[in-house]
This record gives sequence, C-alpha cells and structure tokens, in this order.
Amino acid sequence: MLIILLGPPGAGKGTQAEKIIQKFSLVYISTGDILRKAVKEGSALGRKAREYMDQGQLVPDNLVVEIVRGRLMEPDCANGALLDGFPRTVDQAVFLEQALPDIDKKVDRVLLIEVDENELIERLTGRRVCGDCGANYHVKYKSPKVRNVCDQCGGDLYQRDDDTLATVTERLEVYKRQTESLVEFYQERGLLSSINGNQDIDGVFDQISSVLEDL
Ligand code: ADP
Ligand code: ADP
Ligand code: ZN
Repeated sequence: MLIILLGPPGAGKGTQAEKIIQKFSLVYISTGDILRKAVKEGSALGRKAREYMDQGQLVPDNLVVEIVRGRLMEPDCANGALLDGFPRTVDQAVFLEQALPDIDKKVDRVLLIEVDENELIERLTGRRVCGDCGANYHVKYKSPKVRNVCDQCGGDLYQRDDDTLATVTERLEVYKRQTESLVEFYQERGLLSSINGNQDIDGVFDQISSVLEDL
C-alpha cells in the first residue's frame, strides 16, 4: 500500500502520520524530516537545502526526487509506505508516476487534509518538535506533560526555524503557488480523498481510517 498525505503546512500531516503508520503498519517517509536531519548533520545535501528551507521555499526537485527514489527502493518499504511532504510539485508527481512501475508500486490513495488558513497559522506558530525523536506537539492543542519535554523520549522540544510568522506566511503562499495544483492532478486520476482537518486530532484520524480501511 502506498499512501500520500497532501495538505498545506500545519494541516496535521505529521500528527496523523504517526497514528496511520501504527495502525496500518506502513513505513513513514517525510521529505521534511529527511531534509532537516541532513541540515542538522551538515551534509552536502543539508548545506544545499538549508538556504531554501529557512526562507520557506521549496528545495529543488532533483534533490528531493533522489531522496525519495532511494528510500522507496529499500526493502522495508515492500509492505507499504506513507509519503508526507512529497510530491510537492506537479513535476515531482510526474516523476513518481513514472518511477513507480519500475519498482512494482503504484499510488493507492492520496489523502488531502484541508484546514482553514487562520487555523493553520495558529497551528504552525504554536508547533513544537522533539529534537531527539521528531514527535510533534502544540503549545495549546497538544502540550507535553512536562513543559518543553517530550512525552515519548524525554528529549528537549524546540521550535522549527521555519515556524516563525514571516516564514509561515511565505510557506502558505508557496503551497498555493506550487502544491495546490496537485489536488487536480490526483483528482483527475481518481485517487483523491478529502479529509476535514478542522476537527480535533482523533476526529481527523477516524475519517482517515475509514478511507484506508476501504482500500
Ligand atoms: P503538518 O505536518 O501538516 O505541517 P503537524 O502535524 O506538524 O502539521 O501539525 C501542526 C501543528 O498543529 C502541531 O503543533 C500539531 O500538534 C497541531 N495539530 C495537528 N493536528 C491538529 C488538530 N486536528 N487540532 C489541533 N491541533 C493540531
Ligand atoms: P510542513 O508540512 O510543515 O510545511 P515539511 O516538514 O514537509 O513542512 O517541509 C519543510 C520544508 O522542507 C519545506 O518548506 C521545503 O523547504 C522542504 N521540503 C520538504 N519536502 C519537500 C519537497 N517534496 N520538495 C521540495 N521541498 C521540500
Ligand atoms: Zn522525543
């Protein structure tokens, strides 16, 4: 099973991904997480990606496409994967569509999580992330038991460099400009399911579960 999570920054893709991969035994592939790790490690990829990420811009297609191609070919993806944050452009989607048959895979469903814009800003500027395990929190909506400490691993929580108001605004613009056209791309192929992301975390997950259980 290959599932794609689509939706604007802050829609709750990472939050839902954690729950989906557990229930449906999928491997999680987040291009954002992979890129942030590369930045932290200071690798060649990270150095190239950083200048784009800090400004809220997309990293060039050729860099991310290579990441995803390599990851999908690893043996643990044989039973299924959940893609979060990829594809982000129609060019990336076309690449995926052409690359998958060669590795005997196809996209089974695209979940579009939709959330009102003012709520997105609230979610992104209040987001906190664990520096050790990557778990997601929110200062109001999903606060950890101990302030700034991860419930799952005890790691320190931090605010992503790109979750400041100015960068958030730019990322939402980039989404509209470069990513929203993917909705039509997958609609035309009969693969899209819209999910109402303006519900609490469990409500969104229930709707996603019923879509995936029907596959
Ligand atoms: P994305 O991966 O789509 O950018 P996240 O999953 O990181 O989004 O969620 C963004 C922020 O909003 C996080 O701080 C998360 O805890 C919070 N959040 C996620 N889903 C909900 C929800 N349904 N209601 C309220 N807050 C949410
Ligand atoms: P969110 O869903 O909260 O916007 P991500 O963690 O998915 O954030 O992405 C963070 C940043 O990483 C993006 O703003 C972009 O710079 C880069 N990035 C992630 N995935 C891609 C992709 N598929 N193509 C280009 N850039 C990407
Ligand atoms: Zn943690």
